[in-house]
Amino acid sequence: MKIMSNRMDYGYYKYQKEFEEKALSVLRSGWYILGGEVKTFEENFAAYTGAQYCVGLASGLDALWIAVRLLGIGSGDEVIVQGNTYIASVMGITINGATPVFVEPDIYYQIDADKIEEKITDRTKAVMVVHLYGHVADMDKITRICHEHQLKLIEDCAQSHGAFYKGQMTGTFGDVGCFSFYPSKNLGAFGDAGAIVTNLSELAEDIRVFRNYGSEKRYYNKVVGANSRLDEIQAGLLNVRLSHMKEITEERRQLAAVYSRELRHRDILLPREREDTRAVWHQYVIRTSRRRELTEYLEQKGINTLIHYPIPPHLAEAYRYLGHCRGDFPVTERYADTVLSLPFYTGMRPEEQQYTIDCINSFV
Ligand SMILES: *Cc1c(COP(=O)(O)O)cnc(C)c1O
Repeated sequence: MKIMSNRMDYGYYKYQKEFEEKALSVLRSGWYILGGEVKTFEENFAAYTGAQYCVGLASGLDALWIAVRLLGIGSGDEVIVQGNTYIASVMGITINGATPVFVEPDIYYQIDADKIEEKITDRTKAVMVVHLYGHVADMDKITRICHEHQLKLIEDCAQSHGAFYKGQMTGTFGDVGCFSFYPSKNLGAFGDAGAIVTNLSELAEDIRVFRNYGSEKRYYNKVVGANSRLDEIQAGLLNVRLSHMKEITEERRQLAAVYSRELRHRDILLPREREDTRAVWHQYVIRTSRRRELTEYLEQKGINTLIHYPIPPHLAEAYRYLGHCRGDFPVTERYADTVLSLPFYTGMRPEEQQYTIDCINSFV
């Protein structure tokens, strides 16, 4: 059997008729930028998260850098972020000239809240929490630290649509929640898309102006902004997908439960869900010191896997200028060397998952 590490066609065919009708209706409407679909999506997504405002943007990276920028963070400032994130989180900081200060992750792959305070300096302006793999960071501790030290709190929710901490949705704990709707995300568009949610009305307005060339009304430009608009067609397709988020999330949780129940191998460590949280399982990430062997064995069985992520940002060539070297963040580096993402996607067939489980369990 051939198993892809991820596939997006299943998720499309599941709601094919609705997606196609929506796409056609947008095409036929004659209105393609900043119209009714975007407005509806912003309202629906704000309601979904429990935030007051949502502004649609062109990508998750745009959500991050625009949030950092409009929170007034720039050159000379420091932003605390976990070491084991996708590099976009870090670029959201450095695009603005600010410096990322890395913190090691905990056993749930989230920022280790007990190691944040030791990194705070008088230049620290914000903490960026990344709810990695659809799991949730320790938000009680983190919000307390941000409050005590008067730091902004930015949540990178590109992998955590619908994840909860003590009944509150990720993205609503701090100043801003930044989302990506890249096709493979839990809530995926059919191209690039992103959004910021916030409860701060002025900030929401600033973002709205900024995304459209800093223009509040046509040809009157208030600030130097960007072109980071969410397309009508993507917003329309997102409206369709959002209406099914409950079942999409439930399905992912079921798939994860099956892996967790049935995988057993002494060389493999399974992921765990933090107490008081509801993870949405963007990836199902195991850890093994025999990663290369296991990957090659699975490849022979026709099973593709991925590594999220093989090179931590502090060791990326792009960030050589930060001056970090191997050994600086041992936990982050150990995770980068041992994590492995198993095949996991909306619509994964039971026989596909069972085959994957059987192959892993019989790996010698
Ligand atoms: C996908 C992702 C991003 C970036 O989103 P894009 O829409 O691809 O720009 C940022 N942070 C994390 C953690 C991501 O997984």
